[in-house]
Amino acid sequence: MIKLQNAMAIFKLLDKSNCRQCGEKTCMAFAGAVFTGRRPLSECPSLDRHIIDAYSDDPQNRHDLERNRDDFLEGLKNQINSVDLKAATGRTGGRYENDRLTIKVMGKDFSVTTAGVLSTDIHVNPWVAVPFLNYVLYGKGLDPTGDWRSFRELKGGREQYPLFQKRCEEQMKQVADSYTELFDDIVHIFSGKQVDSQFQSDISVVLYPLPKLPIMVCYWLPEEGMESSLNVFFDQTADRNLDIGSIFSLGAGLAQMFTRLALRHGYAMTL
Ligand code: SF4
Repeated sequence: MIKLQNAMAIFKLLDKSNCRQCGEKTCMAFAGAVFTGRRPLSECPSLDRHIIDAYSDDPQNRHDLERNRDDFLEGLKNQINSVDLKAATGRTGGRYENDRLTIKVMGKDFSVTTAGVLSTDIHVNPWVAVPFLNYVLYGKGLDPTGDWRSFRELKGGREQYPLFQKRCEEQMKQVADSYTELFDDIVHIFSGKQVDSQFQSDISVVLYPLPKLPIMVCYWLPEEGMESSLNVFFDQTADRNLDIGSIFSLGAGLAQMFTRLALRHGYAMTL
């Protein structure tokens, strides 16, 4: 959980519309109520669940979130029978066989049947399953153009960028700083590719969490008097091929996966 230091830090997370749906007169009043423990953050209906998840320490709320997430996942699975999976192959970049649409997720097969049954070579967890299903259900299937954008430039990304930076870019940077073979290993393990240096970075690697949703990770090594830095970029079509919440999940999920990989290789992480 990320600790919020004062009511202003909470206020910055809110959409500042003063819509009163939480029962408070203003967003500032709600922020004050959260800071003093009178209201849980989850009672602002405008807040994205990723933000609530990251900032909430209420065990009941966590339990509710997990239950909501499972319900949400089940809801998406139930909608799959409304999609013609065979016709979806072109749009999703997948293949179809025996009532099963199979798509490469980070180079590994991930499948769904008309009944919404998921199967995969890798562990099914919500950070992959929800984006995968949203991509199949709602993705526009636009081909990537090679025009890279930051998360905050995508539709709906600006408000969530501070949290994305913390949960994805900063976490990946800390891993890359100590685990020097990180980029070689992720290219090898997850069928990524090292590409010509972009934005004058020292290393640029493209990964495919979904066939039409490439993610480019750029890393700048430390230089005299300057820290290293890391940024994650998406194709300019990303926000039409997948909703912003799912794009967030993929970025944060990748950062977690890199951390686990580093720990497995014996690197101590201070995250
Ligand atoms: S519901 Fe959320 S956005 Fe609306 S007033 Fe309350 S805190 Fe602000």
